[in-house]
Amino acid sequence: MEIVGIIHELPVELSNQIAAGEVIERPASVVKELVENSIDAQATQVLITIQQAGLKSIEVNDNGKGISADDVEVAFLPHTTSKISNDHDLFNVRTLGFRGEALASIASVSKLTVVTSQDGKSAVQAKFSGNELIKKETFARSKGTTMTVEDLFFNTPARLKYVKSLHTELNKIVDIVDRLAMGYPDISFRLIHDGKDLVWTSGNDNLQQTIAGIYGRTIASHMLDFENSDPDYEINGYFSKPDTTRSNRSYISLILNGRYIRNFQLTNAVIRGYGSKLMVARFPIAVINITMDPSLVDINVHPTKQEVRLSNEGHIGDLISDGIRERLSNQNLIPDAVKNL
Ligand code: ADP
Ligand code: MG
Repeated sequence: MEIVGIIHELPVELSNQIAAGEVIERPASVVKELVENSIDAQATQVLITIQQAGLKSIEVNDNGKGISADDVEVAFLPHTTSKISNDHDLFNVRTLGFRGEALASIASVSKLTVVTSQDGKSAVQAKFSGNELIKKETFARSKGTTMTVEDLFFNTPARLKYVKSLHTELNKIVDIVDRLAMGYPDISFRLIHDGKDLVWTSGNDNLQQTIAGIYGRTIASHMLDFENSDPDYEINGYFSKPDTTRSNRSYISLILNGRYIRNFQLTNAVIRGYGSKLMVARFPIAVINITMDPSLVDINVHPTKQEVRLSNEGHIGDLISDGIRERLSNQNLIPDAVKNL
């Protein structure tokens, strides 16, 4: 009897949709991936315009370096990237993206239009529907890229069902834009939802003013700045005094080499820095930047890259908590950093 193999390769549209399941959970994931691409393209201005919490449309417009006409279609294939080429690069990633999966994934579950120009004169526009290129033409626009994602999950009804209320989805979008903005005070971010301005940061490279744009001037002006570095790690940021707290930990933002990360141990290190000064079940507001050699961080742990593996977590945690403790004990000796917000 002849044995016939039953294993076969999946059509590319299907494998893209499967990959999208990992990276593109909800509208906020699209916003995250597109804005990260704008940041990697060295944009100084990023405008995010969404409708119906991103389910109707998400548009991300940047003034970054653009994509060449030759590359536009390639960018939407799975595993295509301009950011890494070999294993050395993979272990020294300095960009937010490197997996080359986001655009292929997003295009496979939406109707996507890209308009992009590298020279600020001629631009190329390409339209995709569920990964299929349906139109490509050239015209003019300023330097940069605009990605428009419409009808997200139109061809994946199960995923659409999983999406929560518009309110929840919108909150997740605002949250991710807030964190990205705090990681890049030198970039101006603006988020508009159904015609209403929700987030704006000036991009003047002042972290405290960026925090003011997100949590308000009163909170930002009462925060303390701190830094604590050694030859391998540079830690700096702002944290609230013990009298300004919240009922959960989500106001503690950790930014590692420009990437917003979630990390239980380092979040606890922030809290530990306050010693007994915090009330029970109250948590501070803090933005902590950690700068370190990228080869000591494994960011290839999870597709969304928000969880990373660090080789020296305990030590980094000590630098954070010692820095905060010291600054709190000196708080009456050193004036608040900026009074002119
Ligand atoms: P990755 O970011 O991991 O490289 P993506 O699928 O997100 O993968 O993007 C694929 C490629 O498309 C990027 O490597 C980059 O070269 C290009 N690209 C995507 N978005 C932009 C943008 N806004 N500006 C310039 N180039 C972009
Ligand atoms: Mg990307």
